[in-house]
Amino acid sequence: MTRKLFVTTALPYANAAFHIGHMMEYIQADIWVRFQRMQRDGDARRIVHFVGADDTHGTPIMIAAEKEGITPQEFVAKIAAGRAQYLDGFHIAFDNWYSTDSPENVELSQGIYRKLRDAGLIQTKTVDRFFDPVKGMFLADRNIKGECPKCAAKDQYGDNCEVCGAAYQPTDLVNPFSVFTNATPILKPSEQYFFKLSDQRCYEFLRGWLNTPGRLQPEMVNKVSEWLGEAGEKLADWDISRDAPYFGIPIPDAPGKYFYVWLDAPVGYLASLKNYCDKQGIDFDGLLRDPETEQIHFIGKDIVSFHLLFWPAMLKFADHPTIERMRVAVHGHLTVNNEKMSKSRGTGISPLRYLNLGMNPEWLRYYIAFKLNSKVEDLDFTGEDFVARVNSDLIGKYVNIASRCAGFIAKKFDGKLATSLSEHAQSWIKRALVTPEGVERQASIAANFESREFGKALREIMEIADFANQYVDENKPWILAKDDSKLAELHDVCTTALILFRQLSILLSPVLPGVAANVAKFLNDEQFEWAQTSVANGAAANALLGRSIGAYAHLMTRVDPKMIEDLFDAPQAAAAAAAAPAVKAEKPAKAKAAPAVQVTETGIEVIAPEISVDDFFKVDLRIARIVNCEHVEGSDKLLRLTLDAGEGRLRNVFSGIKSMYQPEDLIGKLTVLVANLAPRKMKFGISEGMVMAASAVDEKSKPGIYILNPWPGAEPGMRIS
Ligand SMILES: [Zn+2]
Repeated sequence: MTRKLFVTTALPYANAAFHIGHMMEYIQADIWVRFQRMQRDGDARRIVHFVGADDTHGTPIMIAAEKEGITPQEFVAKIAAGRAQYLDGFHIAFDNWYSTDSPENVELSQGIYRKLRDAGLIQTKTVDRFFDPVKGMFLADRNIKGECPKCAAKDQYGDNCEVCGAAYQPTDLVNPFSVFTNATPILKPSEQYFFKLSDQRCYEFLRGWLNTPGRLQPEMVNKVSEWLGEAGEKLADWDISRDAPYFGIPIPDAPGKYFYVWLDAPVGYLASLKNYCDKQGIDFDGLLRDPETEQIHFIGKDIVSFHLLFWPAMLKFADHPTIERMRVAVHGHLTVNNEKMSKSRGTGISPLRYLNLGMNPEWLRYYIAFKLNSKVEDLDFTGEDFVARVNSDLIGKYVNIASRCAGFIAKKFDGKLATSLSEHAQSWIKRALVTPEGVERQASIAANFESREFGKALREIMEIADFANQYVDENKPWILAKDDSKLAELHDVCTTALILFRQLSILLSPVLPGVAANVAKFLNDEQFEWAQTSVANGAAANALLGRSIGAYAHLMTRVDPKMIEDLFDAPQAAAAAAAAPAVKAEKPAKAKAAPAVQVTETGIEVIAPEISVDDFFKVDLRIARIVNCEHVEGSDKLLRLTLDAGEGRLRNVFSGIKSMYQPEDLIGKLTVLVANLAPRKMKFGISEGMVMAASAVDEKSKPGIYILNPWPGAEPGMRIS
């Protein structure tokens, strides 16, 4: 039998760019998928379909698009356009990236709904909902603000107070108002559609499904069992409808009603798979009906209730074929220095900044994998720990083996490896690859990858690396190389070291796909497969004998700790370093401390010291479109610009140009953005970059600040050089 795996990650909401937490989940799933792709079941390669999609529907995206004056479809298309740079950047190899706003998702969501209705699990109830009489639309909790009923804090959302933390109903707010029109919301009856999760059939099914061994982590079974109650009495019906206007999928036979975004979002997994199958000529229905197909969802712990209650119950009663072969792998959150990430505290790690600093994506893949286990635990990123782990394991232990031995093969043996090994070498290979109890280490490493115990797998791999280094240290090829009578011994030692290095590279390739591909090229290997690591059939030890290999090229550099400083930009340091005109104008006190500006005879500022082209290219200047511009309440210098630099996301930038420009005159114009400037916290929010503007050195006698405007033809995202 050939295992067929249908694997997904949670669908990201398409209102923002990816953050580092997304990348952690994708890296985790990608490592598991790459491990599976290296396997064979019998003679056949294991089949893996790894798909993702943007979660596009719902009020927040509808409102965000309206604010920008574009359609929701245009809005999510812009976000989608920015996805590839992250996925490619961190070697995340989805087979397909799709959208929940797609014909497949409409068809599948409506089909599932019809089956649930036929099963008697859809019910309508009339409920009172808040309604904005001016805008003519029903309001979600977060669309309503007012005074907190507990602490009287003003301007709090309809679901909870950000000042005192109280949770309440929007009806409890004092002086509630619609965030769209400031109108006082009225209560209006509305017929809503509910999925009857309280039905005893759902409880019976879920109890059995959740408790199937191997389906879920034990801590998740315990947690979700509590939500069921003793006999399902805690399961409440789920409101799956929203009233027009709503960006979503129409409910069949219910004019003006749409599926709540959480109904159609997980169906997006199937929509992306179907879209992929159609493109590849794979029979989608046949694949799902195949008893060898397994369905695996990787998700974060914050969306467990949707994936472990509603989603399986929906699939079960819509006769989804793989429901009994569906598993959910839940992970914890990524913390930074044991704190929840926060941009304003300067602890957030931007995935793009990581890449833009020239940091190797495989460092992060390794570090995350090293810290991951199969439990629902948070994972902490600490800068010092990251540097130490990567430099010690990947450089000190792994790459080091090849860099110490490969050169001798090229120099002394014409690039050709020994055709046989001494008994001494063979015994070392066995010691490295087989435990004293006679168990192949690769088998236990495989079991750990399969069960998502990545940290354990990597520790075992590093034990093999320790053996390899011990072997090289004891046999000292650099000494042997000085004595022409020891050539055969040198050949033996270097060949053995490279056999172990190849073994390590294959075992590490789910985590380090880029390095592994380079190693395969250097060793004249075709694609690495897991079976090549087996000692039993000689695959591991004999593959390289007599082989000609290519020239060794450097595989990976050490992490420079300075990079970590740049990765975490402390907010106070950023503010002090910001010499932007905006800040100069806003904070005259700071300017005093700066050295006096030198002026030439013609009255211009003295030209700065010479820099190299490399220095110049450190500054990434981009064309950006000002999609929105507004006054900043409480500031007489700043304008708030919303910029599109072609990244598939928008940036918020403050600029001290209020004295010169009316916001409405700038909207739609192009300008120049310093795109890789560290984000800095200002009194009014985070500024994600700086727009370039010219001003005279003597602001008193020559006031004015002028922003740059490119010639026609320039487009957002173009680099300036
Ligand atoms: Zn409060």
